[in-house]
Amino acid sequence: MIKKLLLILLVCFSSKAHSQIINEKLVEKHLTTLADDQMEGRKAGSQGIEMAAKYIESEFERIGLDKFESQNSFRQSFSSKDMSLFNVIGVLEGKSKADEYVIISAHYDHLGMKTGEKGDLIFNGANDNASGVSAVLALAEHYKTQNINERSLLFVAFTAEEMGLIGSNYFGKQINPENIIAGINIEMIGKESPFGPKTAWLTGFDRSDFGQIIQKNLEESDYSLYPDPYVNFRLFFRSDNASLARLGVPAHTFSTSPMDKDLDYHKVSDETKTLDLFTVSETIKAIAIGTLSIVNGNDTPSRIVMKKDEPFK
Ligand SMILES: [Zn+2]
Repeated sequence: MIKKLLLILLVCFSSKAHSQIINEKLVEKHLTTLADDQMEGRKAGSQGIEMAAKYIESEFERIGLDKFESQNSFRQSFSSKDMSLFNVIGVLEGKSKADEYVIISAHYDHLGMKTGEKGDLIFNGANDNASGVSAVLALAEHYKTQNINERSLLFVAFTAEEMGLIGSNYFGKQINPENIIAGINIEMIGKESPFGPKTAWLTGFDRSDFGQIIQKNLEESDYSLYPDPYVNFRLFFRSDNASLARLGVPAHTFSTSPMDKDLDYHKVSDETKTLDLFTVSETIKAIAIGTLSIVNGNDTPSRIVMKKDEPFK
């Protein structure tokens, strides 16, 4: 009996401690670093993105992630359009289903700098998409501490999304899609969603039952997930989830962005000070709760079937 009580106490204590891994302070550290002027807008192929990659690598190292396919670097390097490019990948091996992968991703590149003008020249890309990368890093630390992932988790920072999903496309060619159970992609979670506080929306909601699984897992919480309200924007095809979805992987993008009202989108004014840290932090916590049954092997979302003539842009 005492043993049982102790066990319950231990479980309560540790789950409380773990949920505190994801907090505004940690998120702010990632955000301010990645969206700093020093990173010069993180354009793929630039010096600025080199600094961003180094930060992500150093965080993967600190958290204690493994390298992908026993490479000696967190970088997945390749060249495209005469540029040396690299995705950054960290791995947390699954406890009982190590050959089943769940991908948690966000693009870390952005637009770089304006030329030939005075004033603010740097596209800091705080919302787009330092916020998403902050989520990937926070979730990596959360799951490393939790140690409950029966499936293997791949934390991926994709490059050259802004140039046409180049990094995720390359990544998709290096994997066997049948081993990928789900793709959790995160884009622009720094502003309150059009559905109100503690809500997010998901692209391609009706293309698999991924979104319904998340909704079920969030039922007991005070956070809600909605289908993407901007269907005319075709956002399902415009972020890195698309590179995996076209291979059949149930890969969707979480966002909170009020797309039709965001005056900072792809502007030099997309800076950390315009973001709402509460929204970022609560959304990351909700993604952790919402995806838990996929991470621990209890749920397997249905595959995506693309329509034959569906344009991929
Ligand atoms: Zn983006």
